[in-house]
Amino acid sequence: MAKKQFKTESKKLLDMMINSIYTHKEIFLRELISNASDAIDKLYFKSLTDDSVTLSRDDYEIRITADKDSRILTVEDNGIGMTKDELENNLGTIAKSGSFDFKKDDSEKVDEIDVIGQFGVGFYSAFMVADNIKVETKAFGSDEAFIWESSGVDGYTVKPFEKDRAGTRIVLHIKEDTEDEKYSEFLEVYKIRSLIKKYSDYIHYPIRMLTESQKLKEGTESEYETVTEDETLNSMTPIWKKPQSEVSDEDYASYYKSKFSDYDAPLKVIRQKTEGSADYTALLFIPSHAPYDFYSREYEKGLQLYSSGVMIMEKCKDLLPDYFSFVKGLVDSSDLSLNISREMLQHDRQLKIIAKALEKKISSELKKMLKTDREKYEKFFDAFGTTLKWGIYSDFGMHKDSLQDLILFKSSFEQKYTTLEEYVSRMTESQSKIYYATGESIEKIALLPQVESVLARGYEVLYLTEDIDEFAVQILRSYQEKEFINVTAENLDLTTDEEKEKLKAANDENKELLEMMKESIGDSVNKVQFTVSLKNHAVCLSTEGALSVGMEKVLNSMPGAEDQHIKAQTVMEINLDHPIVSKLKELYASDQEKLKNYSKILYSQAQLVSGLTPQNPSEIADLICDLMV
Ligand code: ADP
Repeated sequence: MAKKQFKTESKKLLDMMINSIYTHKEIFLRELISNASDAIDKLYFKSLTDDSVTLSRDDYEIRITADKDSRILTVEDNGIGMTKDELENNLGTIAKSGSFDFKKDDSEKVDEIDVIGQFGVGFYSAFMVADNIKVETKAFGSDEAFIWESSGVDGYTVKPFEKDRAGTRIVLHIKEDTEDEKYSEFLEVYKIRSLIKKYSDYIHYPIRMLTESQKLKEGTESEYETVTEDETLNSMTPIWKKPQSEVSDEDYASYYKSKFSDYDAPLKVIRQKTEGSADYTALLFIPSHAPYDFYSREYEKGLQLYSSGVMIMEKCKDLLPDYFSFVKGLVDSSDLSLNISREMLQHDRQLKIIAKALEKKISSELKKMLKTDREKYEKFFDAFGTTLKWGIYSDFGMHKDSLQDLILFKSSFEQKYTTLEEYVSRMTESQSKIYYATGESIEKIALLPQVESVLARGYEVLYLTEDIDEFAVQILRSYQEKEFINVTAENLDLTTDEEKEKLKAANDENKELLEMMKESIGDSVNKVQFTVSLKNHAVCLSTEGALSVGMEKVLNSMPGAEDQHIKAQTVMEINLDHPIVSKLKELYASDQEKLKNYSKILYSQAQLVSGLTPQNPSEIADLICDLMV
């Protein structure tokens, strides 16, 4: 029978596993046991709704055998098993989970641990210790069984097989010892026992093995006999049920990594145990980076739900608000019934109480992190800040009070992240509002003419670079009674009374000139007027009303926005102290055609300095050229 080839990525990973110098080869056992436990979970879930599963909870087990002579180690489960297709798909290709961004071009210094981690390690890790692997499996409900076999990169075969019950048996032929590696150890009971204690102690199903020990013969004082015992190697106590003092940070991290398929330790572990109105234990993790699909539709939030140590739901959405969707973990409560259905859960009072309490806890832990470990918090915010800002904006601002102190913005103050509280604490006496400006990057925002002028007055400006930012700020409206205001707002009002008078006089005196300019630009602007708040630039754009130019851009780029063109009320402002003013007046008196062209050019300049693209670049280019020749 011709060998089938592994998919390309799988081949690379396989090659790496086979030739691995990975120091933790021993983790292969954890991976196989965890797959076995998942397979039993799947059958167990099925049994909750499917009467054809006749096994009861106590029947499930993971069984290990080791034979030193033949160098065979087996791991067997009576879980859901695999069909022929599943065998091909699951073991012929790398698990679909995870991102496969192999650091191909950097092969010199491939960070082995990182890469292994990225692939979730999984089944393939067995090739670190075995030179031949067989997988004998029968899917639950199927009459056929199959055997998959591979000795490495040249491929694998799948053939029919005889097997009476559903489940999977992994048969490893352990590699011969080398000078550096004593692979034989993995066939020793003491080693297997210690590896299971180390990595798989919390697995909910018994991991059993027939073991031999020397026991004192009954009735004698010095005669020993060999006794064979069916030993359960794991304590089955879930990690969250162990006393906190017995669980190290590393234990939590390795539990998190294996259960939630992450290659990095969590940024924060939150453990909560309560008794009272709701009796539950929660073990929550804040990841140190966003999962690859976090900002896509595929991402599903939720916590695992356990009833007295038995998992009843893999992703319970109702336990987490959307703005904390990044939190991973589980809740175990003795108040929930084992057979509770999804629909019933939605209305469960107990669950609502738990969700509320978790939300409070997460929020207070984040606040604590912000106060005590700023660097860590900023790392967290880089990964998940957008979600918090969406949280402020969503549900018409219902959650703004609890979230406003968790958000950060970059600001003109040392170009660093600031909280709103810190911003307000730095406000000077003459400053009544919180200034912000929007743009693609802080570098670009800092160049906006209006930002220059606000900074020149000694005020701090928040730099809003994400699409959601201005929407969040507008829903907040104010912080500690200080209103937010976009530096491009027409009513920015940084001017003194004297300046105001001067402005009003200039606007009144040149009413016709300004109107003519507006007419020549067209509907893109609502009006043209003078300003005294620009430092160097001749012109800029500001907006009247709540909708800014930045928001206009975001709203129009949203899917479905094509036919409902949303427009900000734009005002072109001309710097009253700029020499261009006398030129415009002169043209109004002598050459109105030229004034119209100048108006168009000035408008396109205003667009450019605001980070917008002029709609009619070729017309503008021609007009500029006319000026030059
Ligand atoms: P992962 O567990 O990260 O998905 P693996 O490479 O360990 O990746 O396994 C790939 C897939 O093979 C699993 O997702 C599962 O569907 C299947 N599989 C592995 N071991 C077993 C098993 N003992 N019983 C049933 N299915 C299994």
